[in-house]
Amino acid sequence: MAKKKIVVVGAGFAGVSATRLLAKNLKNDAEITVIDKHDFQTSMTQLHEVAASRVEPDAVQYQLERTIGKFHNVNVVKDSLVELDKSGKKVITEKGSYDYDYLVVSMGGEPNDFGVPGVKEYGFTLWSLEDALKIEAHLKEMVQAAAKESDSEKRKKLLTFSVAGSGFTGIEMAGELIDWRKKVSKKYGIPESEFTINIVEMMPTIMNILDRSLADKALTYLQNKNINVLVNHGITAVAEDHITVNVGGRDEEKVVKEIPGNTLIWTTGVQGNTEAEACQLSETERGHHLQANEYMEAIGNENKGIYVAGDVSGYIVPENGRPTPQIVEAA
Ligand SMILES: Cc1cc2nc3c(=O)[nH]c(=O)nc-3n(C[C@H](O)[C@H](O)[C@H](O)COP(=O)(O)OP(=O)(O)OC[C@H]3O[C@@H](n4cnc5c(N)ncnc54)[C@H](O)[C@@H]3O)c2cc1C
Repeated sequence: MAKKKIVVVGAGFAGVSATRLLAKNLKNDAEITVIDKHDFQTSMTQLHEVAASRVEPDAVQYQLERTIGKFHNVNVVKDSLVELDKSGKKVITEKGSYDYDYLVVSMGGEPNDFGVPGVKEYGFTLWSLEDALKIEAHLKEMVQAAAKESDSEKRKKLLTFSVAGSGFTGIEMAGELIDWRKKVSKKYGIPESEFTINIVEMMPTIMNILDRSLADKALTYLQNKNINVLVNHGITAVAEDHITVNVGGRDEEKVVKEIPGNTLIWTTGVQGNTEAEACQLSETERGHHLQANEYMEAIGNENKGIYVAGDVSGYIVPENGRPTPQIVEAA
């Protein structure tokens, strides 16, 4: 029997895990080609640690040749999906094309700026190792500049760090900044009291995916560490040296305010990968996630050997009618 050709696009938590299972179970019955932009898997869950210089970049990279390339039936390719020829069953990449009998699309998600102007130009997202390294370099630049700045207004802007969003990623990032502040304050001789760290959240409460009592514990902790938790603050624009916010609860009249500062780390939302969406594999919902059925087949392309997995996908859990969360366990 001819070996089945399986192509996996995206070697994150979902792609690597699918490849491991398929490689072990199918042995000589399949040839698996794994295509990723990088030759390593990024441990996304530690990106904030790299951004705040606590962990070295190579500690969050797992070389794919060592993790899945070791299987005799797996071939790892560093390349990028460009388009999909569904009728010809081919993945077209920047460097070539790959035939498949079965395809797994596991290209992850991407940050969602919800159309807020200036996020792309002046904000920092935290969604790849490159993003984390950019934040790390920027934080260093701000503190070094502040150490030399005598104008108090400019110095305050340099030492103000805002994190947009109070989901896990935002709170983890703010938590890292607490430790980072202590370290750099000593190193550059700037009192910790000169640093301003803001968490900017549109909702009236933070960490809304958690049980309220746990979220309130986190709030108390952050406040005790001198973090400004700004709830009911919806960011409407981002500029190089300030953000504009609409302040006020749902039924209140909103007041427009500017928060000065040269650093905004944007962690407010995740959407499915828009490059994957462009392949028109299945219907997507508001968050651009490719809809999957209970076998993780792309809805709209069932029985064609096309599967979607991880953050790129949206499987609605029948028990609660909600999509699977964008977390490692689900991926
Ligand atoms: C800062 C941060 C902290 C987090 N913390 C937690 C946490 O504590 N707990 C938790 O459960 N989850 C956490 N998450 C979420 C978790 O990381 C994701 O849910 C998980 O990584 C999703 O896995 P995935 O395989 O779907 O996608 P990813 O891990 O994002 O992998 C997608 C892969 O696809 C590749 N790719 C993309 N486009 C292309 C293309 N065109 N061609 C080829 N390859 C492509 C990428 O290079 C990448 O390797 C965190 C996320 C972030 C950003």
